[in-house]
Amino acid sequence: MDYSRFFTDAIDRLHDERRYRVFADLERLAGRFPHAIWHSPQGAKPVVMWCSNDYLGMGQHPKVVGAMVETATRVGTGAGGTRNIAGTTHALTRLETELADLHGKEAALVFTSGYVSNQTGISTIAKLMPDCLILSDALNHNSMIEGIREARCERQVFRHNDVGHLDELLRAADPARPKLIACESLYSMDGDVAPLGRICDLAEKYGAMTYVDEVHAVGMYGSRGGGIAERDGVMHRIDILEGTLAKAFGCLGGYIAGKSYVIDAVRSYAPGFIFTTALPPAVCAAATAAIQHLKTSQWERERHQDRAARVKAILSAAGLPVMSNSTHIVPVFVGDAELCKQASDLLLEEHSIYIQPINYPTVAKGTERLRITPSPYHEDALIDRLAEALVQVWSRLNLPLGARSLAAE
Ligand SMILES: *Cc1c(COP(=O)(O)O)cnc(C)c1O
Repeated sequence: MDYSRFFTDAIDRLHDERRYRVFADLERLAGRFPHAIWHSPQGAKPVVMWCSNDYLGMGQHPKVVGAMVETATRVGTGAGGTRNIAGTTHALTRLETELADLHGKEAALVFTSGYVSNQTGISTIAKLMPDCLILSDALNHNSMIEGIREARCERQVFRHNDVGHLDELLRAADPARPKLIACESLYSMDGDVAPLGRICDLAEKYGAMTYVDEVHAVGMYGSRGGGIAERDGVMHRIDILEGTLAKAFGCLGGYIAGKSYVIDAVRSYAPGFIFTTALPPAVCAAATAAIQHLKTSQWERERHQDRAARVKAILSAAGLPVMSNSTHIVPVFVGDAELCKQASDLLLEEHSIYIQPINYPTVAKGTERLRITPSPYHEDALIDRLAEALVQVWSRLNLPLGARSLAAE
């Protein structure tokens, strides 16, 4: 048996489909974000990052870095085990209190990543409800899909952000059956937003629970960074909010927040919580510092929106196919996996601009794109340089220009 073939054939298939992934070897420079060093095959070169999910640059904020260093120096590095084995570090208790307060919920529970929160959180919640029916948005993130799959209960998929379709499915379902509506608040590839208020209306009408992934919104929307649900005034109507500490909060980890009985049950039953070592206290303290800072500081949020609006305006004025939306994500349409990769390579090699290509399965085939994420620290001059570089690359590769509406995809 030639075992190596299984693996090399699998990799060859990706090359054939032009979606073999290459990650640039980068080193961020704290205090100089979005500037970074690219360790290219020819040696180290300065580049500008335009695709980081450290949306607000909190990963380099002095308060956040300071909390991490101070905590590691004072209490050491690792958590020393799962919480069942080693207890809960005090830094983690403080973080969970901060998160419950952020979302106006009774309790919060931290996991080692946002991925794990969805996977183990959704499956555990659904399994605890006999004969649960899960209603899942068609564009939900893979971590939610895996959680739903693991729940091994019936799942019905509603068309993306289509409350009419969700209403139909709920109306047809047995009223006596427990139901869980699972969706995201802000979908990060198109940058569109869920109609959370209307989803809550339906949940209340049909007696369903709601589970909302706010990973791409926490820290960035709402007057305290509570997310789209806070901004839209519906936070108190959502049963379970899920978020990450790894994007706008600049650290690592994920969480759910909700009623104490839900959180306590997940804490007690979720394998992805029970059987894995807790986050290091230094990471917890850094995340706490980021959350606390963003509860009161509006500067990052306002500047973030201002930068995103400016990037969209300048790229659109240059004729680039910006896919329109109302949020901080700036997707630029390419529509071909190979060209998308080439555009990204040219930007990096000839313009010192790093934008990772977004290909299938992250987005549907034929909708490949460059996904640009401006931060508060992308100055005007960097935006102008980005537009010039993109225009040159577009003309080099003969890519189509012109506005691109989301609905057309
Ligand atoms: C990134 C992401 C996650 C996973 O969060 P991590 O903390 O990175 O594991 C979950 N949901 C969505 C929608 C995401 O984009």
